[in-house]
Amino acid sequence: GRQAFDVAVIGAGAAGMMAASVAGQRGLRVVLVDHAQRLAEKIRISGGGRCNFTNIGTTPAQFISQNPDFCRSALAGYTPRDFIDLVERHGIAWHEKHRGQLFCDDSSEAIIQMLRRECDAGRVSWRMPCQVLGVDKGPGHFSIATDGEPIEAAQVVMATGGMAIPQLGATDFALKLARQFGLKVVEPRPALVPLTFDAEQWKPFGALSGVSLEVSVSCGQGKRKTVFLEDLLFTHRGLSGPAILQISSYWNPGEAIALDLAPGQDLAQALLAAKPGNRQQLDTALAAIWPKRLAEQWLATAPGQPGAMRMADIPDKTLRALAQRIHGWSLVPSGTAGYRKAEVMRGGVDTRGLDQKTMQARAVPGLYFIGEAVDVTGWLGGYNFQWAWASGVACGRALRAA
Ligand code: FAD
Repeated sequence: GRQAFDVAVIGAGAAGMMAASVAGQRGLRVVLVDHAQRLAEKIRISGGGRCNFTNIGTTPAQFISQNPDFCRSALAGYTPRDFIDLVERHGIAWHEKHRGQLFCDDSSEAIIQMLRRECDAGRVSWRMPCQVLGVDKGPGHFSIATDGEPIEAAQVVMATGGMAIPQLGATDFALKLARQFGLKVVEPRPALVPLTFDAEQWKPFGALSGVSLEVSVSCGQGKRKTVFLEDLLFTHRGLSGPAILQISSYWNPGEAIALDLAPGQDLAQALLAAKPGNRQQLDTALAAIWPKRLAEQWLATAPGQPGAMRMADIPDKTLRALAQRIHGWSLVPSGTAGYRKAEVMRGGVDTRGLDQKTMQARAVPGLYFIGEAVDVTGWLGGYNFQWAWASGVACGRALRAA
């Protein structure tokens, strides 16, 4: 029958624009639909406005999923180098910040314009702003109800992302649609998100708000144990900074996290070595080997006010206990700061219902899920965009003319 479009891509973010441009440039008739007023807001605000668009060290190990091997094929089919080539073809200057993280020299706007031009090169049609109200499958095609004209397409690509930052128009539409078509969904949760604590529990540490230092953070036991060495930031409500954002993606409610606040040091040995004949107060001595504000405030929360004691008078076992608590601070967050503060959603459409080479729903020919809506969640550092690009390209290459 006559089809208005070969493909309707719902969601014009990172993954959606990538899939639409690839399919369009292969000659398919593609329409891109998005309810937002402004294009690709998450790309715009990403990486502090400079878009950490990939990580050159990307491997499947930096992704969280109930099905860890699922992402392999797409990541291998479109690598960070492939995206760098695209960026360079568009004359966008970039630099590596650290740990393989690549950023635009100027602004993330350059990435948005690049993707828009790639869509233009594929003669992609736009419906924006246009809200999708529902998707139904008829014989051989999909009918898409919108707040404007309905859309008919032979295939539908769901690229509406995750629920992080609802104030920017994030929705759970992909998950709703997945369930409507009988697909399973891995429970979604905020990820790459600050961790919070009960007001009462956090009171002694509130004064540390603004203090930042490198820590080692871990959660989970045995084979499930995960460790990151990154910066921690104390806030008035709890803990943030890259170390906490990373571990938050692995943390489950009720679990403890363990912090080593002086990684790579042996504080017990350092304190005991500094002790003999030392007339300094403990807080002064500790401030010499640890951030000063942290040293003072940390000791103020310790039982018996040891901060004002002279080093030489403190029993070895007290110094050892102090060091032990700094190297192994275990605490149970009461929760996360939620989707309003999260960078991504973990969980999503269960990959066991999707084909790893094409992102097509096994049970619903013609229906595809890509990007953050899928149960593949990257670490902090450009990995989530690399997944958006790679899953978008895998899908864009697999779509067919009607
Ligand atoms: P999105 O890019 O979120 O696109 C989804 C699109 O779908 C949106 O345009 C939305 O308007 C549209 N949509 C949603 N619901 C509907 C609906 N019902 N109807 C129609 N349209 C709909 N990742 C990195 O790798 N590097 C970074 O530097 C980085 N920085 C970030 C900073 C912040 C503050 C945040 C919040 C995230 C950041 N991320 C970063 C994560 C990254 O932005 C996302 O993982 C990525 O954008 C996901 O791509 P996507 O295409 O799946 O979804």
